[in-house]
Amino acid sequence: MRQKNRYIGLDDILRSIRNNVVKIIPESSSLFKWLSLIGLKINAKKHHAIRTSMVMGVYATQHCNLNCKCCTAYSPIAEKEFLNIDTYKKDMEKLAELTGHKLESFYVTGGEPLLHPRLLEIFSIARDSFPETEIGFMTNGLLLLQMPEIFWESCGKNKIAINLSRYPVKLDIDKIREKANLHDIKFDYVGGSDVPVKSMWKYPFDLEGKQPLSRSFNICTQINRCITMQDGYIYPCNTIAGIKHFNKYFGKNLEVTVNDVLDLHKVKDVKEVYEFLNTPKPFCKYCNRKGVVFGLKYGSSKREISEWV
Ligand code: SF4
Ligand code: SF4
Repeated sequence: MRQKNRYIGLDDILRSIRNNVVKIIPESSSLFKWLSLIGLKINAKKHHAIRTSMVMGVYATQHCNLNCKCCTAYSPIAEKEFLNIDTYKKDMEKLAELTGHKLESFYVTGGEPLLHPRLLEIFSIARDSFPETEIGFMTNGLLLLQMPEIFWESCGKNKIAINLSRYPVKLDIDKIREKANLHDIKFDYVGGSDVPVKSMWKYPFDLEGKQPLSRSFNICTQINRCITMQDGYIYPCNTIAGIKHFNKYFGKNLEVTVNDVLDLHKVKDVKEVYEFLNTPKPFCKYCNRKGVVFGLKYGSSKREISEWV
């Protein structure tokens, strides 16, 4: 069965506007920043609405085979780490039980997920747990054409979509598309087929933690979009889920408290999860969301703290 295309929603419309605006207004200009902040606010408002379903993600790896500056997954400074399959399986069972085997969507991310040696098990566990859910993974694409036939078969059989981030790297897109079509796999760029080549956005931290929680939270577009499940916990965003790598590499202590996370195995019903996701977290005090820097020219990370603060 061919994988279905999603309906066109507000996200798609905003994305399309952004993709076209960027062709005429330089991303580094004040006008672009102003328009983007308005876009972020509209987007955030939509995602702050009380949920009736969830978009859930897991980090397959946090390290990566690219080294992009300002990476929001901290991959350039992350230690090599792979999603533990046993823990992941238990977490998925619990999540499926809580949600009645239904999510808005489920995605596997990184770092670079294709580096995980047991990626196909991650896919089949996801599909067994959520038979009807849209499932996909994010990739920079560099390893796609080196993947064995069994990988393509698994994506086709489990209906796993390939979401390619459009970095300025050399890829044989036609060949990748041909492979995906052959196996009936949904394939597109993250941000839509007309997305421009990626520039980098810096979401700076306030190391002193002086940001008003509600202000950071209210314009945060990670809410209900970047929910992350990791080692038995639900994190409201991938920022908190990955911060240990930033802390370790730079010797900082951006503190994650018990109120920033939800113990998945202690949750009684899904309403408890939705309520948790809809309130600011203590960690939001470190996020200077208003200070976001748009349109930085793509380049390699020098692993300097200035890329994240
Ligand atoms: S490809 Fe993506 S995850 Fe990897 S370093 Fe670049 S921004 Fe980070
Ligand atoms: S800590 Fe708060 S403001 Fe920062 S990314 Fe997470 S939810 Fe958003």
